[in-house]
Amino acid sequence: MVKINGDDELLCPDCGGNYTHQTSVNVVMRDSEDGDGTATFCSSKGVEVSRLESSKIAGRRDVIEIQLWCEECGEDEPKTLRIMQHKGNTEVTWQR
Ligand SMILES: [Zn+2]
Repeated sequence: MVKINGDDELLCPDCGGNYTHQTSVNVVMRDSEDGDGTATFCSSKGVEVSRLESSKIAGRRDVIEIQLWCEECGEDEPKTLRIMQHKGNTEVTWQR
């Protein structure tokens, strides 16, 4: 479950700490439901755009994944926050 404290700060899924840092964002937009899609990966090194076959895309529609690390857990334990459309809803989950 994704948790946010009273100051609207995202909390680490492992330790509950509120010092998280974003390192990259991956956005996958499908051409149509269950179709192939375009992935855009953005980090401090730049932006990469590529095409993906449907079988390599999670769910049936579009996906946004934000990579973070937590000061308490350390940079060696990156975390991924996923925002994904699923059955008409938008799910926000941590990927393990
Ligand atoms: Zn943590």
